[in-house]
Amino acid sequence: MRMHDVIVIGGSLAGAACVRELERMGIDAIALERERFPRPKVCGGFLSPSAVNCFEQLGLADEIRKAGAVQVSSARVRVASVEVEILFERPGLGVSRSTLDALVACGARVEQGCPVHEVKRSGRVFHVNGMECSVVIDAAGKLSRFTKRRSVDEFGIQYVETGTQGPVLNFWFFDDAYGGSVSIERGRSNSCFLVKKDGLRRYIDGRDCLVTGPLAYDRLPGDFIAIGDAAGMVDPFCGEGMRHALETGMLAARVVAWGVRRGASYAEMKGEYETEWTRRWAGRRMIGAMIRRLLSHPLAFGFALRMSPARLLNRMWD
Ligand SMILES: Cc1cc2nc3c(=O)[nH]c(=O)nc-3n(C[C@H](O)[C@H](O)[C@H](O)COP(=O)(O)OP(=O)(O)OC[C@H]3O[C@@H](n4cnc5c(N)ncnc54)[C@H](O)[C@@H]3O)c2cc1C
Repeated sequence: MRMHDVIVIGGSLAGAACVRELERMGIDAIALERERFPRPKVCGGFLSPSAVNCFEQLGLADEIRKAGAVQVSSARVRVASVEVEILFERPGLGVSRSTLDALVACGARVEQGCPVHEVKRSGRVFHVNGMECSVVIDAAGKLSRFTKRRSVDEFGIQYVETGTQGPVLNFWFFDDAYGGSVSIERGRSNSCFLVKKDGLRRYIDGRDCLVTGPLAYDRLPGDFIAIGDAAGMVDPFCGEGMRHALETGMLAARVVAWGVRRGASYAEMKGEYETEWTRRWAGRRMIGAMIRRLLSHPLAFGFALRMSPARLLNRMWD
């Protein structure tokens, strides 16, 4: 029987960042990923300046740039008749998830093509896919079978087109959808929209696009240490989902490495991680939820945008 200190379920951004960090700290960890990379994924493809910073910490930022990621230095946001230009204090990057996820998993202990169907526990030991470990981390994303959640009537759609947006993140708000386009590698643009269920058919008709959903922002208390979207989705408008995945992956790695070395119980590690998660992310998620509510009132949102958009974004990305 194979044994590890830590098994991570899911080897996309959160899972791969977590096992990379655990390995760096000398902990025996493995991520089990059901898909094989590269694979497409519904995502806006915009790495906020803080997400780029996380990749600097992981030592991967230069590789991502070399893979063709495009520097993004401003956003152009349109709501009804309002158009606002927002200059970023630090640049972000545009990159496809097929390129990005493959790059982050490459060289990390991510076993691909390994779906996890069930986790059993006896005392301090977890049993996962015929292996044993003392810590399980859920990095299986927003639709994970391992978390309970409240879904909303919103879906994500994404498509890739030839031609670029230059260094600008273009954003549009409509009554039943919002989303944006960003330049990605090989002279292409990645477009991604969040669409209300009733309008879905209108947006996908005749398009070669990927669809995901229904989306769920709120996660209900779960059994495992959860990182990335498995810990609760950050509103895509914030451009912070990937940063949340990377940061929480690295945070869980630090807490778990500390716990494994001291022989702490799983409950202690989970408690410590959740306290730190709340300290770092509860405020940002509140801003995200506020913006989401504002989005259902385009006039009020247009007014707020005219007030101090750069301050709001840079506050979120600090
Ligand atoms: C429409 C939309 C647009 C977005 N745009 C942006 C954006 O522009 N910028 C940004 O920063 N964020 C954006 N996000 C958010 C971002 O995509 C997520 O926050 C990010 O992908 C979370 O990463 P993750 O690793 O937690 O989860 P995921 O990327 O969802 O990875 C979970 C992984 O777990 C695997 N898995 C699932 N179940 C199992 C299982 N049972 N066994 C093994 N493996 C399993 C899956 O195959 C998957 O690879 C957007 C989200 C949506 C919905």
